[in-house]
Amino acid sequence: MNIAVTIPRIVCERLALDSMQWCAWNTDDPLCRSCADHPAAAVQRFLSIHVEGELDFELFCEGDLAGNGQTSNRMRWAPPDLFLECGECRGSGRYTGLIASELCRACEGHGVIRILY
Ligand SMILES: [Zn+2]
Repeated sequence: MNIAVTIPRIVCERLALDSMQWCAWNTDDPLCRSCADHPAAAVQRFLSIHVEGELDFELFCEGDLAGNGQTSNRMRWAPPDLFLECGECRGSGRYTGLIASELCRACEGHGVIRILY
């Protein structure tokens, strides 16, 4: 039995190769999808319909949704906004240097970066 805590895995893919439509779904329930004309919009729509409150999840998206060149990202849904876990501080909001620990400059100490599109 797998007792590890698993976080939801959300996939976002283009509807078809030549399509401008993107669809998002949870890998636990692949038939339940939300689509939009931007990957972040599809994910946002999916979460706003299917998730109550905040959610941490792993996003797999072939589009560069977060603008960081990664196809897999740890994300947070805090309605109505989507956030990317900060890659510089790994979500801690702090940067630990040789002498002192200071606020992470990439996310200004928030640990997450809001997705704008
Ligand atoms: Zn940071």
